[in-house]
Amino acid sequence: MSQKVSCEVLDRLTKLFEGTESPTALAKTPTWNATPFTVLISTVLSQRNRDEITYAASERLFKKYPTPETLVDADLDDVNDIISNVNFHFNKAKAIKEISRILCEDYNSEVPKDINELVKLPMVGRKTANCLLGYAYRIDSICVDTHVHRISNRIGIVDSKTPEETEMQLQTAVPRDRWLEINDLFVRFGQEICTPQRPKHQICPLKDLCREFRNESE
Ligand code: SF4
Repeated sequence: MSQKVSCEVLDRLTKLFEGTESPTALAKTPTWNATPFTVLISTVLSQRNRDEITYAASERLFKKYPTPETLVDADLDDVNDIISNVNFHFNKAKAIKEISRILCEDYNSEVPKDINELVKLPMVGRKTANCLLGYAYRIDSICVDTHVHRISNRIGIVDSKTPEETEMQLQTAVPRDRWLEINDLFVRFGQEICTPQRPKHQICPLKDLCREFRNESE
């Protein structure tokens, strides 16, 4: 798919959601101080969780432990209790304490801006690292979650088996200065219209551009 068509997809979705608030946890205005550290930890907490659960756990956690220095000294059981409503909370409690220790010891308590450094941290893969780079630092990056992977393939912007392949193909298919728009738009579109089961083709503004719709109509 050409960059021109990819841009048309982004333009139409931007128009569709114009003037409405994004429901995604990372895009929602937080009640805590949004720093690269809190964005990183929220993103780890968000793995395999609904947005409202992530948001509530983040709110409780950062009220008590807002920085790597405070979290590194926190009692593991206390951290585990605070985030006990999220999936895999014990593993995540251990991981976020370890992330805090590494940041304090190796990065002067800063979150690195380099994806190759970020993916060395526990429970931080390319998806989490790209989300952090985009949402915290506004560095051109593409956060490929389940919605971005599914929708990019359905429309035909990419033809990929894994999120990593999707990320690489999107880097070519979409102009760099529009990478940061992809995650927020596709997450909303995936929650409201191009849902995993029974996508709402009838109200979709992308029907004429969509490979899956074309294939189903033939
Ligand atoms: S036409 Fe259907 S499958 Fe294609 S983008 Fe729209 S909702 Fe998704």
